[in-house]
Amino acid sequence: MEDKINQAAEKIANSKYLVGFTGAGISVESGIPPFRGENGIWNKYDERIFDLNYFKNHPKESWELIKNVFLEFSEIAKPNAAHFALAEIESRGFLKTIITQNIDNLHQAAGSKNVIEFHGSLQKVRCTNCDNVVDKDDLNLNFLPPKCPKCGGLMKPDIIFFGEGIPVIAYNRSFEEVGKCDVLLMVGTSGQVMPASFLPQVAQQKGATIIEVNLNPSSYTNSITDIYLEGKATEVLNKLIDVIEK
Ligand code: NAD
Repeated sequence: MEDKINQAAEKIANSKYLVGFTGAGISVESGIPPFRGENGIWNKYDERIFDLNYFKNHPKESWELIKNVFLEFSEIAKPNAAHFALAEIESRGFLKTIITQNIDNLHQAAGSKNVIEFHGSLQKVRCTNCDNVVDKDDLNLNFLPPKCPKCGGLMKPDIIFFGEGIPVIAYNRSFEEVGKCDVLLMVGTSGQVMPASFLPQVAQQKGATIIEVNLNPSSYTNSITDIYLEGKATEVLNKLIDVIEK
């Protein structure tokens, strides 16, 4: 493992354009469960809470579940050492952008500046009628479903539900970033959610070195990953930072 950490640190330190790509696994140690796996959210709850048609037909039930499952986690969760390590690698000038599939705002809370939220953010709520976007803290979530302060339309968390497209700007910027990176650092993603799962493949096809941090092998590990660092995101990234600093 030490050899692989050294190898990865060297790639990062010598990179010209390093991009990060993160998934639910990086926030597990902040207390937010992932979707899949042993303690995954889908073992307890029905995936329908994130289905657009189900949401439109059952807005109150959907909002209640989303509030209980996600908003409560996101209110108490704090960034962990892995989020801070990525912010540190950015502040040292190595990491240019983080593309995250997460909706928990923890990269920004850790100090990362250039973050693309591929699946949106729980911080925001959008009107399904007039597209008005407001901060979730400016809405009264004691009465569900919340109504748009402008037009009275149904408000929806500004995250991507099954059946929705990725916001064009986030989509285009993400594919541009992976297209120009020479090293991609992936942390805690299973690679099972499309189209986000194509991003590492594009980086690899353009010749980037793929470094993967994961607790368990993912769909990338034996296909496109060049350096696989198995372990908890906090532990692996702390080791990486130590070596980079030296
Ligand atoms: P996923 O749930 O499919 O997979 C999580 C991955 O993280 C797995 O490969 C697992 O082995 C790994 N992992 C778990 N704990 C880890 C740890 N401590 N250190 C390193 N790796 C660890 O997650 P995904 O690939 O991001 O895709 C699912 C979708 O889930 C994404 O679209 C994301 O928006 C959404 N999601 C987000 C959050 C969040 O914002 N925190 C939480 C749950 C789900």
